Amino acid sequence: MTDDAEPPSEQPQSSDVELTAEEASKYVDFINRKAISPTDGCPVCGSPQNFVVEYAYKVETIKEPFVMGGSAMPLFVTICYNCSFVRLFNRNMADAIIEAELAAEPLLPLPEPAPSGGETNGE
Ligand SMILES: [Zn+2]
Repeated sequence: MTDDAEPPSEQPQSSDVELTAEEASKYVDFINRKAISPTDGCPVCGSPQNFVVEYAYKVETIKEPFVMGGSAMPLFVTICYNCSFVRLFNRNMADAIIEAELAAEPLLPLPEPAPSGGETNGE
């Protein structure tokens, strides 16, 4: 799967972690468990032929949304073999969900639910 091409001399700053084969396999299993159907595939072309990229990435976050892990959001990436579409997954969230599932416990803390009594969408 890997070739021997030299990486560019200037590495992107957002890439700094290499996934182990075990980690990549864990994320493949995770996505397959979460997929709506076994053939649920690429949102562009529908192909189920996707692979997890061997590098993880981090992107800086501007503020603090529901992102576990602070100001940098670690990601793992899948790419479609058929059309090259890229999907990004939050590693910390996936790891927390996997751990919670292994412990058969709900993932906590969840975001505060909106106050009951109707939605306020502003204007
Ligand atoms: Zn595709």
